[in-house]
Amino acid sequence: MSVLHQADMTIYDAHLHLTREDLPRLTDWRAAGVVGLASATAHYIEWPEAIALANEHLPEIRVTLGIHPWYLEEASESALEELDTFLANCPALAIGEIGLDFADGRNDRERQLHWFEAQLALAEKHRRPAVLHLRRAWDCAPTILAKYPEVTTVLHSFNGSREVARQLLSTLHNCYFSFGFAVGTPSATRQTGAAQVIPANRLLVDSDYPFQRLPGAEESSPIDLNAIIKRLGELRQESPALLATQIMENWQRVFSP
Ligand SMILES: [Zn+2]
Repeated sequence: MSVLHQADMTIYDAHLHLTREDLPRLTDWRAAGVVGLASATAHYIEWPEAIALANEHLPEIRVTLGIHPWYLEEASESALEELDTFLANCPALAIGEIGLDFADGRNDRERQLHWFEAQLALAEKHRRPAVLHLRRAWDCAPTILAKYPEVTTVLHSFNGSREVARQLLSTLHNCYFSFGFAVGTPSATRQTGAAQVIPANRLLVDSDYPFQRLPGAEESSPIDLNAIIKRLGELRQESPALLATQIMENWQRVFSP
């Protein structure tokens, strides 16, 4: 990607995983229109570096701290106290990536539910948005989220159906649906169905860099969210430029401290 690339719309990425090594990429990303980045942690070990990045690069990078459902085994209760302290000391921090993942035969349901709720409770206490990873958890996630009605949530790489989206919209007044690269795959019928019924003021996009990429792309990049915004425009019969503006407004509403 050349730095001379003409940005045709601005991109606000609602979820990715940035480390200090990625900072040199920011110049190219910026030139391509990537303006906002909500960078998540998955493990408590990553928190100090993430906070340092936030301090150096706000407002371009917004940092979300959390423990991902895949990394709970190594987490102790003291991590929750640490998270509580970080949030109290830094008003710009949000929560994430937290969630529930019952795919691939995971059998630590009780542990996942405990950590999910404990971290949502911290989001509620400190009035911060929470970025969520939810897989095969639609039987219980809407009920749990309804217990924290004041928490603004971002369902990253949303993979629920149209029916799930409607259920969430009817119970939660501040839940945002963030579409990842999967919606660019024609076979992703759940996502494409959901993308057509979500109000524009609840839409976001996320790259989950470096873990997901646009179908056919060699590597992950938030620049490719351009294609996802165009795809959403096609699915919803809306102008991609207007959609990009709406996504910017949504991102700012969710992540501005
Ligand atoms: Zn992620």
